[in-house]
Amino acid sequence: MHPFSYTRVSDTREAVTAGSRGGRYIAGGTTLVDLMRETVECPESLVDITGLPLREITVTERGGLRVGALVTMSEAAAHAKVRTLYPVVSEALELSASAQLRNMATIGGNVMQRTRCTYFRDVTADCNKREPGSGCAALHGFNRSHAILGASDSCVATHPSDLAVAFAALEARVRLLGPDGERQVRFADFLLRPGNTPDREQALQRGELITAVEIPALPRPLKSGYLKVRDRQSYEFALTSAAVALHIRGGVIREAKVAAGGVGTVPWKLPAVERHLLGERPSEALWVEAAERAADGARHLRHNRFKVELLKRTVARQLRIVGGTR
Ligand code: SF4
Repeated sequence: MHPFSYTRVSDTREAVTAGSRGGRYIAGGTTLVDLMRETVECPESLVDITGLPLREITVTERGGLRVGALVTMSEAAAHAKVRTLYPVVSEALELSASAQLRNMATIGGNVMQRTRCTYFRDVTADCNKREPGSGCAALHGFNRSHAILGASDSCVATHPSDLAVAFAALEARVRLLGPDGERQVRFADFLLRPGNTPDREQALQRGELITAVEIPALPRPLKSGYLKVRDRQSYEFALTSAAVALHIRGGVIREAKVAAGGVGTVPWKLPAVERHLLGERPSEALWVEAAERAADGARHLRHNRFKVELLKRTVARQLRIVGGTR
């Protein structure tokens, strides 16, 4: 591990000042410490933000939820409001990582976590994300777990977070504090597709700190849930996943929020699926027809062709689970 300086802050402004000087924020450390040990990342300065007052979950004025950036994954998953208002969020959290990691890792850190592409974590391999311009070993290597949506010639790595898929489906907003003050970014704009700059993963300006993620109010009753398909049933990343929220009134789907994980370079919102559902009555045929659109624009690599069909089946299955059939 390379030498680094360490500062502990107790005030958000103090944190932003340290971050603006190049300090790297650390909270639970469940990703960053691993990457530092493997010398994938070598920050010169760490700013410990665990003392900041960002640990609350509150109902917003409009009836949505504001989840503080330092709420741990297990706290959020167990919170009564999260469980009753947005089961898709608690289910995504409970299907993530291990209990020990969920007790340490924070909501802010979860959406900032870096890809699990094995070449990214192997410092002897070419990787544009770790070392811009060096190439992408996954393009012609073993790419079974990689992306079929949103990839570029520079990078085909998937985003690993389950929680981020639920946030993308629900159209959450990320609240940021930086040297120029506060701002909010739509979740869909916060995580960046790789393009020619896969090393740039979030729409963050220098020194900006995530203070909370805000989930908007949605019409009630709202049924929601998260389905994760993986090689083994615990402590494994998604091959495919689906976050679904449906508002059904009078037997008709009035609101549909759907996103997929494990398949995109960012959590993959599925507007074509959503449009196909709106105004329709739940039925087995509808779920299958809508899910057919989940893989629109997909381009598979040598080892992950199976993800195209698996994605459609995952979305259809989760629509069936959440929406039922009549
Ligand atoms: Fe690196 Fe992305 Fe290629 Fe993986 S897919 S080796 S993270 S550039």
